Amino acid sequence: MQRYSVFAVAREALRHHTGWDRAWRSPAPKAKYDVVIVGAGGHGLATAYWLGKKYGIRNVAVIEKGWLGGGNTGRNTTIIRSNYLQDPSAAIYEKARSLYETISQDINYNVMFSPRGVMMLAQTHHEVRGYKRTAQANALQGVQTEFIGPGRVKDLCPILNIDGPRYPVLGALWQARGGTARHDAVAWGYARACSAMGMDIVQQCEVTAVRQVGGRAIGVTTTKGDIDCDKLALVVAGHSGVLAEMAGFRLPIESVALQALVSEPIKPCMDVVVMANTVHGYMSQSDKGEMVIGGGTDGFNNYTQRGSFHHIEETVRALIETFPMISRLKMLRQWGGIVDVTGDRSPIIGTTPLGNCFINCGWGTGGFKAIPGSGWATADLIARGEPGPLAAAFTLDRFREGRFIDESVAAGVAH
Ligand SMILES: Cc1cc2nc3c(=O)[nH]c(=O)nc-3n(C[C@H](O)[C@H](O)[C@H](O)COP(=O)(O)OP(=O)(O)OC[C@H]3O[C@@H](n4cnc5c(N)ncnc54)[C@H](O)[C@@H]3O)c2cc1C
Repeated sequence: MQRYSVFAVAREALRHHTGWDRAWRSPAPKAKYDVVIVGAGGHGLATAYWLGKKYGIRNVAVIEKGWLGGGNTGRNTTIIRSNYLQDPSAAIYEKARSLYETISQDINYNVMFSPRGVMMLAQTHHEVRGYKRTAQANALQGVQTEFIGPGRVKDLCPILNIDGPRYPVLGALWQARGGTARHDAVAWGYARACSAMGMDIVQQCEVTAVRQVGGRAIGVTTTKGDIDCDKLALVVAGHSGVLAEMAGFRLPIESVALQALVSEPIKPCMDVVVMANTVHGYMSQSDKGEMVIGGGTDGFNNYTQRGSFHHIEETVRALIETFPMISRLKMLRQWGGIVDVTGDRSPIIGTTPLGNCFINCGWGTGGFKAIPGSGWATADLIARGEPGPLAAAFTLDRFREGRFIDESVAAGVAH
């Protein structure tokens, strides 16, 4: 892999940028791999990366029906935090957050991780109690968060209207080391690192069937032909139900559209991420100056990858209440992704009823932040054949056994 550095940039500037290698190869698929991962989103690519890095398993293909990172990974609002309530969630999200701190050096690709701080506003007394409880739980879990009062909220984000009109700000759950990262760069960086390890990332290749013999997965049928494998991992977010059906089992997952929008770029006015879950809207400012705004999920299941128009209106209305200055902004673009939501709002990482077939899904509206930790845990699962400590609580069995990991407050419609 050609190393990216300030010297490389200077050298290439002198020769008019003619010497850069392609960041990753685009090979035709081979007939057989040790591991086939379906879905080249962040979670699929991070899984491949850790399989190679931690376990030396490099005969791996990541199969993608569109372009890599073109699913939810390239469509999200990039919020990274780990202030979840339950212990298993705090563990995996904090692992991921801590990996984000060094990911750019680890994979030699700048993902622009910006630990600018994330605040979740408390605008009802119920939320105050809930967030105080989460801050206490986080202290026990070793996750650094604190409950701050309205004065500190206003100091950290002066453009916020803390006085109402409907819901005055009563405080916030503040995670100073939360923040954002460039979503495409996370996918591109992992893809480049995987390609350098000799793995194949096969784009424009849709999986249309899961091939099996005697209750075990033996490969997939794709639009580029059959591919055999010893182990198969399904990491397809909103399409998990579709792939599970191909594999012959059902998942407790609903797929819905979730959307986001950005404004025209303006001068820096906000250097933290703010989430206002009561009125429902959240906002941060990108490095280009655009205000990045997240909305809610559609109220009905669908695969549209667009979202309904009324959500834009509701989100913008909520945010104008919280940030009156945005009423004068023009909105530039809007888009949607298909998110995979479980009943307890926690992911599924584990084995499946089909032998040799593993699954990672259910990250719903909040899986970008989990990518490095989720890849770590899923690589563990595939290499050892059973979930390691980070994933042990997230197996599919929990829905049968009633061991829910209820994160509906931390992750219901929030990110
Ligand atoms: C608008 C929006 C805002 C969000 N904001 C945040 C946020 O601020 N913070 C946060 O943490 N999370 C956020 N999320 C959630 C986050 O984006 C996802 O949880 C995460 O990106 C999921 O990654 P993934 O790799 O599992 O899925 P994806 O990135 O969707 O990748 C799955 C891939 O599988 C491919 N695929 C599907 N079917 C097949 C098939 N048959 N054959 C081959 N390939 C197939 C798809 O094309 C896709 O590329 C947001 C999501 C949306 C939509």
